[in-house]
Amino acid sequence: KAKEDGRDTYRFYDEKINKRNQRRHMIVTDLRIALRERQMQVVYQPIVQVDNHQIIGAEALLRWHHPQFRMIGPSEFVPVAESAGLINQLGIWVIEQVCILLKRLQSGAIPFLANDQYFRIAVNLSPVQFRQDVLFETIENILLEHGVPPTRFRFEVTESIFMDELNRASNVIAKLRKIGCGVSIDDFGTGYSSLSYLSKLPVDTLKIDRSFVNELSSYYSSLHEQAQHPASGLSEPDPRQAQAIALAILSLAKNLGMHVVAEGVEHLEQLRFLKEHGCDSVQGYLFGKPMPERDFIEFISRKK
Ligand code: C2E
Ligand code: MG
Ligand code: MG
Ligand code: MG
Repeated sequence: KAKEDGRDTYRFYDEKINKRNQRRHMIVTDLRIALRERQMQVVYQPIVQVDNHQIIGAEALLRWHHPQFRMIGPSEFVPVAESAGLINQLGIWVIEQVCILLKRLQSGAIPFLANDQYFRIAVNLSPVQFRQDVLFETIENILLEHGVPPTRFRFEVTESIFMDELNRASNVIAKLRKIGCGVSIDDFGTGYSSLSYLSKLPVDTLKIDRSFVNELSSYYSSLHEQAQHPASGLSEPDPRQAQAIALAILSLAKNLGMHVVAEGVEHLEQLRFLKEHGCDSVQGYLFGKPMPERDFIEFISRKK
């Protein structure tokens, strides 16, 4: 009996792995034509200053409208693009799209941008892109070609680049900072690297990961629930842990002279907690979901 159970489990996972491989294979094949066929889109999620709710920029996020499967999210196709050698091309395309948006904003569609000196668009860079020798030069050239000032850009990197390619990565980051780009560490607190790299790297912003922000407000909701069902609070994740981590990141950033952006802010309670403890800016459904370029331009002109 036990043997049969084992065989069933085996068959079950075998099928699962098979299905996954098939989908992966399909994604690799279709990714190669996705750019050419204009199935990719860059959407923009506003980033808002905590103290006055002004829009200080946005994060550029990739979307893939697959002809058969409709939307495929970047959490699924970016890792595939990385392993299939397609992420460099994709990354370049995103930066170009952002240049086009910025030029549109600068050329009078939104006249305020000229005086809005802090407005930046954040672009995610994959650790795989850092394995290229020419990453910095590639980025610099795109900005030069489009005539967009580097001070309008911020690049988001994850902690994993510091395990992978510490020297090369910090070199590229230093050069990006030197020409005026911002650089932030994304999903901060979820990686496994040591904190010592932080003092060696010229990054200017830490982004508190959505998972911590998400659990901040269950403090309030679980207090509420506990009042109604005294025994039910136990299975909830303890929000004090997420709060402790958020506070540690905020104080670390302050002491290193860095800005903090909290991502995934959905509720007022989360915003209140972050504001109370000195978080500079936030990004999340509370202020705006990622939106197509046209909607984003409308969004910022309405707010101004
Ligand atoms: P990320 O860079 O950490 O981006 C933040 C993610 O959180 C986005 O997911 C965004 O839509 C989501 N988010 C923001 N606010 C909220 C909220 O209030 N609630 C919830 N539930 N979610 C929120 P998205 O767009 O699916 O992207 C997932 C990841 O894919 C990104 O995480 C990033 O690592 C990667 N990615 C996206 N675009 C690119 C790109 O152009 N290049 C590279 N290399 N990676 C990208
Ligand atoms: Mg990001
Ligand atoms: Mg993030
Ligand atoms: Mg993330």
